[in-house]
Amino acid sequence: MFSYRHAFHAGNHADVLKHTTLIALMKYLTQKDTALTVIDTHAGAGLYRLDGDYTETGGEAKDGIFRLISGQKEAPAEESKGSSATKKGAFKDPLAPALVNYLDLLRGLNPQFAETGEAAHLKIYPGSPFIEQQFLSGRDKLKLFELHPTDFKSLSGNIEQLGVGRQVAVAREDGFEALKTFLPPPARRAMVFCDPSYEIKSDYPRVSAYMSDAVKRFATGTYVVWYPVIPRPEAHDLPRKLKTLAVKAGRPWLNAVLTVKSSKLLTDEQGDVVRPGLPASGMFIINPPHTLKAELQLALPQMVALLAQDRHGSFALDSGS
Ligand code: SAM
Repeated sequence: MFSYRHAFHAGNHADVLKHTTLIALMKYLTQKDTALTVIDTHAGAGLYRLDGDYTETGGEAKDGIFRLISGQKEAPAEESKGSSATKKGAFKDPLAPALVNYLDLLRGLNPQFAETGEAAHLKIYPGSPFIEQQFLSGRDKLKLFELHPTDFKSLSGNIEQLGVGRQVAVAREDGFEALKTFLPPPARRAMVFCDPSYEIKSDYPRVSAYMSDAVKRFATGTYVVWYPVIPRPEAHDLPRKLKTLAVKAGRPWLNAVLTVKSSKLLTDEQGDVVRPGLPASGMFIINPPHTLKAELQLALPQMVALLAQDRHGSFALDSGS
């Protein structure tokens, strides 16, 4: 069951979409005065080394965050101190604010990268728990769930180093089941991030069933689901089911999809079929902040320009209320 390790995938194009959107959500939701409860049902290890064994063998960051950095030329640190302005380079437009915020967060964790802007100096990649934690203020709470024994151990150790005490709780429990315990939250403000690996088929129906139950328990929470766009009926059905449940519950929704390449199977020189790797992924959000669509409208075309691997690169952004 547990063959999936996010370390192989850290910083890939799906993470660029996922984490840019997550930062925009956290930034908005933590502006209010009332306490926010963040529940991350599938937390992963929290932090990943981009120069580690896993990422070197998988190398997916090469076509994700590293491509994003090298595709646009940013002003050297001395020119951009205190601001995140970009200078004209291979990528002519100023970077969209949501992508600037994403790179700023990476700079915060990688001082040498912040200083030089060199992709080679980007060594540490934050997973969703570290992104979420960065935005919390004293009154907010973060609940993290991770089932894999090794990733749970890494996550616990990484969170402990932050010295944030009881504000962040880590549990080796089923994140789907945990939702029942924490919804509705005490201050009636919550964001749920649901990011399974979908390595088992049952993840797809579980996402829609548990999101449906969560919306019934707490209708005004913000529910965020990442999903792969792959030629598989369950994957195809998932955003459709999430949309149906949002519409039935009378809640607004937003669906952002980033495609970086064709999903067609390829053949190598020997005529063997080669899997193309993940071609696209999506973020489905129920009760999105009203600012999110405009932010993604600016960021998604730039993600396509910087991350597309063939002429099939594209994005889609749909919403309803
Ligand atoms: N959210 C992380 C991020 O953005 O950095 C990545 C998470 S990764 C895609 C999915 C994780 O969920 C894996 O680490 C896997 O071990 C874990 N997992 C799988 N099933 C789970 C479950 N039912 N409850 C909690 N964690 C689970």
